[in-house]
Amino acid sequence: MLTRLPAAIGTHLRDVDTPALLVDLDALERNLGRMARFAQQAGIALRPHAKTHKSAVIALQQLALGAVGICCQKISEAEAMIAGGVRDVLISNQIVGRQKIERLIGLIDFAHVSVCVDDADNVAALSSASQLHNATLDVLVEINVGANRCGVPPGEPALELARLVTRAPGLRFMGLQAYNGPAQHIHDDAGRRQAIASVVQHCQQTRDLLQQHGIPCRVITGAGTGTYPLEAASGVFNELQPGSYLFMDAAYARNRCADGGPVSEFEQSLFVYTTVMSRVTAHTAVVDAGLKALGVDAGMPLVADMAGIEYVKASDEHGTLKLSADTRGVRPGDALRLIPGNCDPTVNLHDWYVGFRNDRVEALWPVSARGPGY
Ligand SMILES: *Cc1c(COP(=O)(O)O)cnc(C)c1O
Repeated sequence: MLTRLPAAIGTHLRDVDTPALLVDLDALERNLGRMARFAQQAGIALRPHAKTHKSAVIALQQLALGAVGICCQKISEAEAMIAGGVRDVLISNQIVGRQKIERLIGLIDFAHVSVCVDDADNVAALSSASQLHNATLDVLVEINVGANRCGVPPGEPALELARLVTRAPGLRFMGLQAYNGPAQHIHDDAGRRQAIASVVQHCQQTRDLLQQHGIPCRVITGAGTGTYPLEAASGVFNELQPGSYLFMDAAYARNRCADGGPVSEFEQSLFVYTTVMSRVTAHTAVVDAGLKALGVDAGMPLVADMAGIEYVKASDEHGTLKLSADTRGVRPGDALRLIPGNCDPTVNLHDWYVGFRNDRVEALWPVSARGPGY
């Protein structure tokens, strides 16, 4: 499908068509650099999650800064990343179904690919597909460390599945996947510490149990933007997979650090650019970014640059803003930057990143791995 470009290189920001997905390139580069330096200084591998940006261009920047590879959540993401030049992909998720498994095995010809499992039948299906292809697929056992999403329980069930993997021709057991998503968004620092202490304990006990049965874990991987320093300091994890840090969002802006202040190591670099379409009442304005331009599952976007405007309601193509007394001068045609509530699903709605520096468009990058989970 051919999609219209929202801008041309060199365009001034005021001439970018809306709604557009803007990236402040200076802020993005500082965020990328900060996480890369953190991992290097902590002596831990960094494998950023590409489900946030869905862009091979950005993945290559992460790799150039020292990342060992990237994570993907779906086959179509992995394909887009590998087509764009990424050579090491962990699918931090289960790949189920014949078509997807065949595509997964096909990727082994082009990149180092590893995948997570939490089911014996899935292990058998991966093993036969890998054997048919004369390949070796690296496999991690995902353990449920509190998110109650995918993953077998830690301990004995993980040992049982790891045993199956080690005995399955065409598969190689690599270690444990242990990610607690909800823990990333516990607002207070003590709560996040407590949640990750339990994650670490589950990982350690499972690792030791497997070791006692002669199955060493080479990799213990997990962590996101909200908790990565804790996994890094655990002495148990040897790989971090944060995703949102490069963009940030309104949900992460609600996290607090130990002294109660806002968490501030990463800057907001992602915005949805929107135009005021209507001013039919004295207290409201309507903008052209609604549900089809913004992921609102983690709350409404914030309005950047302007205090006193609240984004209160999203419908398909409209967003309603509540105006304070001193912001009632906004007029149709005015452009605003919104801070998305949740960065990943927002990115997924757009075809292009409009990267800017000093108010000029410097880069147009396709969101090449967007779309549903096929
Ligand atoms: C989303 C996700 C991440 C990254 O989390 P952020 O909060 O975006 O940093 C890491 N690992 C897995 C398995 C994920 O699903």
